[in-house]
Amino acid sequence: MNKKTVRDIDVRGKRVFLRADLNVPLDDGKITDDTRIRASLPTLVYLLENGAAVILASHLGRPRGKVNDALRLKPVADRLGRLLGRPVRMTGDALGPGVMTAVDKLRPGDMLLLENLRFHAEEEANEPAFATALADMADIYVNDAFGSAHRAHASTEGIAHHLPAVAGLLMEREVSALSRLMERPAKPFHTVIGGAKVSGKLEVLESLLSRCQAVLVGGGMANTFLAAKGHALGKSLVETDQLDNAVRIMTEARRKRVRFMLPTDALVAAQVHPRAQRQVVRVGEVPRDWSIVDIGPETVAAYTSHLDKARTIFWNGPMGVFEIAPFAEGTNAMARYIAERTPRGVITVVGGGDSVAAVDQLGLIDQMSHVSTGGGASLEFVEGKILPGVAALLDAGEGSAS
Ligand code: ADP
Ligand code: MG
Repeated sequence: MNKKTVRDIDVRGKRVFLRADLNVPLDDGKITDDTRIRASLPTLVYLLENGAAVILASHLGRPRGKVNDALRLKPVADRLGRLLGRPVRMTGDALGPGVMTAVDKLRPGDMLLLENLRFHAEEEANEPAFATALADMADIYVNDAFGSAHRAHASTEGIAHHLPAVAGLLMEREVSALSRLMERPAKPFHTVIGGAKVSGKLEVLESLLSRCQAVLVGGGMANTFLAAKGHALGKSLVETDQLDNAVRIMTEARRKRVRFMLPTDALVAAQVHPRAQRQVVRVGEVPRDWSIVDIGPETVAAYTSHLDKARTIFWNGPMGVFEIAPFAEGTNAMARYIAERTPRGVITVVGGGDSVAAVDQLGLIDQMSHVSTGGGASLEFVEGKILPGVAALLDAGEGSAS
């Protein structure tokens, strides 16, 4: 990576402001998935073991600049404490005199978790005074919040202009894996892309067409391409306002000699409901009142057979309505196939919140070369955008940060 990391600086005896992404899903105050907390541990432990005093900060949910008791970080502090095997102290606010007193008491190896940064509207507004106040607590800034790096907020971007700013270990891993994918993928480089919609992924598709040798399309997104080719798809999700874009993308693929594959068969259901009647049909024969809910077995066979040649595979977006078990077979088959390629030397990278959830459900996270923790951030990276939270960090070549 071309950015300085925690390993490039001396943190001993320093106060470190560590921005992590601890934005976990909550259900009635309970954490339903602690992946992000666990992913933040290596940097935190590294800093503590190397004698830093750590001020840990994150956002949680969307409180929109107001204190919201349901979005306090207490459950995160508890889970973090359990994972670390030591209690995690919290402040009642992200800022203020009470916080300063607590920060002043920190000794090497101590840590403190600040309350939800987004209780302050200045955080998302990237208010310079707020960023300065955060910076005043510490000697060094470490950004490990890859999942928030596409946002220029006070704790992800503004603060970096006031302190020596370096990447955490998770940030480093994410940026290295995705940069490699973008800059020097082993070829052939094939993408499997799905999810609900074409809109929102147009820039991803365009970027991939310039880098990949094949793009294999599934999910609701494929419907819009199939509709643009003239197929009647019953009640399937089709973005009728994206048909022109779909044609443009397919023309672009042809011009660039990128293999652009669409499903040839599909699982259709009478309703999008687990107990609805269902059957496999050719994509040209979707019954009038039915919906496509997954790719069919012939498509799975064609896609996996084509992927046999790939040396790099990027996957974003489920192949069907995978949240409903009977409609998850296409997604699961692709996930299993991609995971099997990793020990054969293929670089396998998965990005996108729902695709990662699908891989996680199958217990295959560790079987991939890289599974990105940053949903929106990883897609913006693949679009070729510069992430402000990464850009603000010290370049690897820059003078000593300590
Ligand atoms: P990711 O988060 O991995 O980028 P998306 O958010 O783009 O993925 O898409 C995920 C959603 O797409 C899921 O909720 C899934 O149910 C939906 N989806 C996939 N295939 C279809 C389909 N054929 N019809 C309707 N929705 C679909
Ligand atoms: Mg999603």
